[in-house]
Amino acid sequence: MRFKEFLGNRKAVETVRGLVAGDRVPGALLFAGPDGVGKKTLALMLAQALNCARQDADGNACGECPACRKGEAMIAAAREDLERRRDSKDAQRRVEGLVYFDLQLIEPLSKFILIEQIRQLRSTAYTRPFEQPRRIFIVDEAQTIHWQAVDLLLKVLEEPPETTTLILITSNASSLRPTIRSRCLRVPFLPVEDELIRSLIAREGRVTKAQQELATRVAAGSVAAARAFDAAEYERRRRPWMGFLESVNRPRSGTRKEPDWDSLFDSSKALTEKRDEFDETLRIGYLMLRDLELVCEHGKSAAVANVDILPHLVAWAEPLGLRGIARLKEGLDEAYRLQIRNVNQQLGLESLALDLLGPPPVHAG
Ligand SMILES: [Zn+2]
Repeated sequence: MRFKEFLGNRKAVETVRGLVAGDRVPGALLFAGPDGVGKKTLALMLAQALNCARQDADGNACGECPACRKGEAMIAAAREDLERRRDSKDAQRRVEGLVYFDLQLIEPLSKFILIEQIRQLRSTAYTRPFEQPRRIFIVDEAQTIHWQAVDLLLKVLEEPPETTTLILITSNASSLRPTIRSRCLRVPFLPVEDELIRSLIAREGRVTKAQQELATRVAAGSVAAARAFDAAEYERRRRPWMGFLESVNRPRSGTRKEPDWDSLFDSSKALTEKRDEFDETLRIGYLMLRDLELVCEHGKSAAVANVDILPHLVAWAEPLGLRGIARLKEGLDEAYRLQIRNVNQQLGLESLALDLLGPPPVHAG
């Protein structure tokens, strides 16, 4: 891909392109911004362009010279190596025999980027590159660097090796130590504009016309999410939330109906069917709550994500009110914390329901 073909984030792209074209790439960069907007893609483009022997006037890599081909092979090998190591059950073997290429991708091998990975980075960073003009280390998800390894990395940043460029990538720059941040040239990324996401989805043509707007809004500025959007899957995961909100919802006035406990618990069971889907399910829950907030504040004209169920949102939002929605959100936060702690998720959602509605009614007889 050429720099001008990169989707969105013009400012970041222009910064990077300018650095390459002007031969002013610093020893350390920090690509910071939301997930799914192409930070790693741009880092790889930068790396390729830096080492290309036939870079064009706009700073693009040619993709054909020996350096470009080697770079591609190095990245492919690094990806394979990462995958193999992540699959390893044995923690020791996961970090055994690390070898870093001139162009190297470094990613978390467990929940963390481990101390051995940064140690290897440090010991390689000061050696001359073997096959490429410059050594480039791309550290993805830099916020996961294990705290024991942060000082090691800091040492590298304090004494920048001459022929090495470090590109740190993070979706959470504030969780990086300020001393790390301050030693990198920061390239900020933003969510990609809906306009661009919308035309990408239309161009790819995987989503029906009726669902394109839903896909655009649910993607929320993430190119990766837009590309991966599966309408049927999304609706399947959203359904329990709709059932949940339907049952939480109370009639506007007058006859106060008892909440539908059976449907509520059926919903929460459906929500937690598969543990690995729980994160995505929670995200959809938060999205629905945010939509309800928007409807509370702006009525039918609110720019909700779940555009296809706007009438439902309007019907749920009014009786809940902002306070009711805030309480739902607290309950959801609690369910999320429980999930992180690896506690029974079902319990989390059931206690959320209890918290919202009070104890279940006692049936006499
Ligand atoms: Zn080239």
